Amino acid sequence: MIPAAFEYARASSVEEASNLLSKFGEDAKVLAGGHSLIPLMRLRLAQPSALVDINGLKDLDHIKEDGRKLRVGALTRHVTIQNSSTVKEKLPLLAEIAGEVGDNQVRNMGTMGGVIAHADAAGDYPTLALMLDADIVTNQRTIPANEFFKDLFTTALAPDEIVTEVVFPVATGAHKYVKFRRRLFDWAIVGVAAQKMNGGWRIGLTNVGPTPVRATAVEEALHKGAQPEEAAQHASDELDPAGDLRASPEYKKHLARVLTKRAINQAEGRQ
Ligand SMILES: Cc1cc2nc3c(=O)[nH]c(=O)nc-3n(C[C@H](O)[C@H](O)[C@H](O)COP(=O)(O)OP(=O)(O)OC[C@H]3O[C@@H](n4cnc5c(N)ncnc54)[C@H](O)[C@@H]3O)c2cc1C
Repeated sequence: MIPAAFEYARASSVEEASNLLSKFGEDAKVLAGGHSLIPLMRLRLAQPSALVDINGLKDLDHIKEDGRKLRVGALTRHVTIQNSSTVKEKLPLLAEIAGEVGDNQVRNMGTMGGVIAHADAAGDYPTLALMLDADIVTNQRTIPANEFFKDLFTTALAPDEIVTEVVFPVATGAHKYVKFRRRLFDWAIVGVAAQKMNGGWRIGLTNVGPTPVRATAVEEALHKGAQPEEAAQHASDELDPAGDLRASPEYKKHLARVLTKRAINQAEGRQ
């Protein structure tokens, strides 16, 4: 289908982008990689009055090591994150996850900031951001990830607010992202990320609720010495996932338990 009519402006700075968003009003949207927004516009599920294109803002396309932090610019494409030697060295789980997003076309266009701002329940980066206590930096403030994702497709962003960076902690320990899907390039039916960090585990779940979930009960069980199989049984303790065309709520809870065990085992080099 063809999108409804909209105005278009290309920003040359973050400040100009924010001003344009204010000028066009709350129905205006930022255009980054366009790989979530344009399909929704073509289906007319989204009908923004105006698009503010930020693809010219090259200073938002960066990966920087900053002490024990890794700063990823909002306009950094998935393929850049996947192939970055800095990411592979400082937060290899992020490089692994980037390589699991969609297909080559999606990875060549889609951006870190787009996935974070879009807040799809099946988005992969939000899980990592939440479980590692990342910060979402905007043109106005810094928002901890656990305050950023409010609901399905709903974030703490104001209408004229632009994500500029996502700041992750460095984490180089055992890690694994297990993404369960029917075809290689599909979104996750359920995903589980496991990262060993500061002597404990961080476990995050994708697509088992309207926002990403940190599986703290699993983390605590592991901390108390439970084996992965036993700890993973807690992965569904607090879950109340919605069913969809691909999986019922019960099946998603089952997957959360099975994939959590698999993620921890594979992170530690077991099958
Ligand atoms: C076939 C297909 C498969 C996919 N599979 C996956 C997958 O497995 N995992 C996954 O995580 N994603 C997947 N995606 C989504 C893909 O990663 C998108 O690129 C991503 O969701 C949005 O990023 P974008 O840069 O394309 O943003 P856009 O589509 O341009 O924007 C998405 C939303 O975010 C807002 N936005 C974008 N950037 C900013 C910013 N800097 N500040 C404020 N708001 C902003 C826009 O206004 C819009 O509302 C898939 C997409 C397709 C088409």
